[in-house]
Amino acid sequence: MPASVVVGTQWGDEGKGKATDYLADRMDLVVRYQGGNNAGHTILAEGHTLKLQLIPSGILYPHITSVIADGVVVDPRVLLEEMDGLAAVGVDPSRLVVSGNCHMIMPYHLELEKVTERFLGKNALGTTKRGIGPAYADKAARIGIRIQDLFDEKIFREKLDVALREKNLVLTRVYGRLPLTVGLIVDDYMRYAERLRSHIADTSKLMHDALRVGKNVLLEGAQGTMLDLDKGTYPFVTSSNPVTGYALASAGIGPREVERVIGITKAYVTRVGAGPFPTEDHGPGGERLGMLGQEFGTVTGRKRRCGWFDAVILRYASRVNGLTELFVTKLDVLSGFPTLKVCTAYRAEGETFEDVPPHQSLFHAAEPVYEELEGWDEDLTAARSIQDLPSAARAYLDRLAELGGVPISVVSVGPGREQSLPASA
Ligand code: GDP
Repeated sequence: MPASVVVGTQWGDEGKGKATDYLADRMDLVVRYQGGNNAGHTILAEGHTLKLQLIPSGILYPHITSVIADGVVVDPRVLLEEMDGLAAVGVDPSRLVVSGNCHMIMPYHLELEKVTERFLGKNALGTTKRGIGPAYADKAARIGIRIQDLFDEKIFREKLDVALREKNLVLTRVYGRLPLTVGLIVDDYMRYAERLRSHIADTSKLMHDALRVGKNVLLEGAQGTMLDLDKGTYPFVTSSNPVTGYALASAGIGPREVERVIGITKAYVTRVGAGPFPTEDHGPGGERLGMLGQEFGTVTGRKRRCGWFDAVILRYASRVNGLTELFVTKLDVLSGFPTLKVCTAYRAEGETFEDVPPHQSLFHAAEPVYEELEGWDEDLTAARSIQDLPSAARAYLDRLAELGGVPISVVSVGPGREQSLPASA
């Protein structure tokens, strides 16, 4: 049985949590493959609202094993808090499995991110200040500390010592902060180690074995394609790779295991933080999308920039991820606009681009070429099948699929599970 990948096709916040939840019934393993505790899923469990940032939402289903794969950076303090939060509302976190290869977010990563963002001033990237970028940087610089290091105190202490020698110099001499002490960090992290021990495993083997006996594996990305470290709008990106290719690298399975690559596509576009966003609407249209779509960050509460559907980035996301289908979310938010703009190409420096321009400066300068589609007034939230949607909404969906060159498999018209409409029904 195959693996499926869920990937955001925009700048994140497309509603991946909702899609994962919809698909979860048929899954045996749900695997988070990149990012850290900056991607929030708001979930309802036993009447309580929980914000999960690290643990895949599959944890709510007793039949699912939730996995955190190698490519995720883990702040063990946050992970344990999330596990406690789940246990407190009666959700058993014992089925969580974490790869020993995950790099850890250390106290100096948090501290350094805070001071470097301040130092960058108006050029700050607007990071979530959870230490995620610095942890990935140390991973690439090969001075990172992995979860498996927790289980050999001598090694852990040695690695920490090496890292702190440099980090403390930077903290004290460059930024005028106080140094961090090895002993205090060791005490905290050894406590975390005891609690995490039973959750650590070779997650690649776990997935491989599950696939061999016919189980379904869902690989769940955080953020979105346009925030990908390589394929996104660098440097206004996240410090890892949300694209499908990295799902395989992180999980440690081969490409032939993957049957479906589901692109989560919001019916309009949002972006958090700085960077190019050609279809951004600074006027009342954007305001209305933000208000009706409740476009505020789950983790940060930050207001998202809002704009019109961009078929150029959808085509790009389809190409770089190998999308097999689209899960379109938040169509309900578009009710009440007399017309809806859809961007089919960009204009920059006198040229027309049907693809993402090859140079970032062109992307910054890109002006959207819009076509206008008919809007609809009907409230869509009560629709239970595609046939219940007004014809203008169906025409809008058809046009998105046509422009993106990818078929739509599900359309979502509200946060509830029953508000996901399969396209084939
Ligand atoms: P993610 O990080 O990609 O999962 O995205 P977010 O957590 O930002 O987005 C999902 C938010 O939008 C959650 O609060 C969902 O309950 C809500 N949501 C998801 N799908 C829909 C939908 O079709 N319509 C509406 N109105 N809200 C939705």
